[in-house]
Amino acid sequence: MWKNNKTRRRFLKSSGILALGTSLNPLELAAEDKTGAEPNAQSENTSNPAAEGLVYDIHQHVNFKGRFDKQLVDHQRIMGVDKTVLLPSGSAIARLSTHEGKSDGLAAQVHPTEAAILLAERVPKNFVWFCNEVPDLPEARQKLENYLKQGAKGIGEQKFNIPCDSKHMEMLAELAGDYGVPILLHFQHEKYNTGFENFWKVLGKYPNTNFIGHAQTWWGNIDKHHVQAEMYPKTPVTPGGITDRYLADYPNMFGDFSAGSGRNSLTRDEDHARGFIKRHQDKLMYGSDCNDIFGQGAKCSGSQTLAILRRLAPDQTVLAKILSGNARRILRI
Ligand SMILES: [Zn+2]
Ligand SMILES: [Zn+2]
Repeated sequence: MWKNNKTRRRFLKSSGILALGTSLNPLELAAEDKTGAEPNAQSENTSNPAAEGLVYDIHQHVNFKGRFDKQLVDHQRIMGVDKTVLLPSGSAIARLSTHEGKSDGLAAQVHPTEAAILLAERVPKNFVWFCNEVPDLPEARQKLENYLKQGAKGIGEQKFNIPCDSKHMEMLAELAGDYGVPILLHFQHEKYNTGFENFWKVLGKYPNTNFIGHAQTWWGNIDKHHVQAEMYPKTPVTPGGITDRYLADYPNMFGDFSAGSGRNSLTRDEDHARGFIKRHQDKLMYGSDCNDIFGQGAKCSGSQTLAILRRLAPDQTVLAKILSGNARRILRI
């Protein structure tokens, strides 16, 4: 019936069938896409004009609060995401670094690395995977190295109760540097990767390892007057906070706009956000990190952040860097 997959997809898009995602299996659609004639930016690795229009989401999870794989695939397609990075959890285990098991599954029922690999293998055009492990487990280094040899694009989401400048972080930094992959970190005051004000030590000691910061303490500290216990500050921002300085002073520090904290950093002071995006345009990446099944509307923080970035970016070139170019360069995807 269809001349080719491209024609068929165009019909599905214009008819709204894709957006509804009801009767069609997205995994089958994605598999078809592999043979489609549309240009694919996968093999390119620079933030060139060809990247304009592409959306890379560097922050999603398998089984995020129980969401099914099909729902995740639908969610990403409805948001208009071309490539998604799956960030797995570490092993489920009760110890101090996991708050005695309360933070297992990244405290959100997220499944470990094997689950991310399985989904990425089923939909290789649209998904890539990081590897992860509880960093103070004796076997952590070996496990992560095995996954890096298998093709993991990074390490994370590191969301454990360890000091951010501990020997465990140094182990991760050294390993990631050896394999040329980034580490994605969740900074949350007194809870995960603690002692944010000390992270400059790691940045300086491991200049060949790229780090991607995210979460409440990362985003709160764009403000010079940030109160560390505050998770979602609403006050205007004074530039020069710790995050602003790490991004400016360390070539190996990057930021991910995902979750409510990333969105809040943009909406709390839009005038500040415009300048922040402009001055760190080579350091910032889009991520969603939302667990809804909609991919649009009021309950989908990822789609809202996407709209905000499109509105606040100074021009299409900067927007393309944040939505795909920087991720393609840093993650080599
Ligand atoms: Zn996080
Ligand atoms: Zn969403």
